Amino acid sequence: MALIVQKYGGSSVSSPEKIKEVAKRVLEAKRKGNNIVTVVSAMGNTTDELLELAWQVNSHPPKRELDMLLSTGEIVSSALLSMALHSLGGKAAAFSGPQVGIITDEAYSKARILRIETKIIQKEIREDKIVVVAGYQGVTSQNTITTLGRGGSDTTAVALAAALGADLCEIYTDVEGVYITDPQIIPEARKLKRISYEEMLEMASLGAKVIHLRAVEMAKKYKVPLHIRSSFSQKEGTIIE
Ligand code: ASP
Ligand code: MG
Repeated sequence: MALIVQKYGGSSVSSPEKIKEVAKRVLEAKRKGNNIVTVVSAMGNTTDELLELAWQVNSHPPKRELDMLLSTGEIVSSALLSMALHSLGGKAAAFSGPQVGIITDEAYSKARILRIETKIIQKEIREDKIVVVAGYQGVTSQNTITTLGRGGSDTTAVALAAALGADLCEIYTDVEGVYITDPQIIPEARKLKRISYEEMLEMASLGAKVIHLRAVEMAKKYKVPLHIRSSFSQKEGTIIE
């Protein structure tokens, strides 16, 4: 039985309809006999809207409170995805980052994950549940909420995959993979089937749009194979390994 971490980005969960589509895909993977941990981003532009909201009450919002506010976007999508899974007959449980023991340093708005207390998730997996984790967040040893920097849900997914010893980390997004688009080299954008971590990091400008580079660095360090693919099609995407 494989353990797969699936991460769904903001555009993949931007509406209730899309969340229901994601739920179908998650259940499909589960029913193929895999254990599934999903990581979700905030719906659509939620994070920007929350920032806007903060600025309306304070032009220099305190960092601690800002991280607390921003973390809520991902909590909303994780709860909704778990509800959608339940309505399709799936067994699922949603968690915030702090709840699953994602321990970070205290660098608000760009916190680094120090460790993950994997026992909490492992218990849910043993009970055959699909675990839905809110991306982009953690908690300090002093029990304050932190966020991991914009695009940080990718890092949550890779960190969980590494900590849990997952077989694969799938990054679902709104493009079908990593493309080479330099018209000087090739006339049409071409999707890569495979690329190494090193090449991906070198081509930062290409890759950064589809995956957070900090997540690629972490995947390289812990040898987590990544599959970048679209949540809107069944096509194979790009494998980074
Ligand atoms: N919601 C956060 C952002 O928009 C984190 C993420 O999407 O990965 O940056
Ligand atoms: Mg986002």
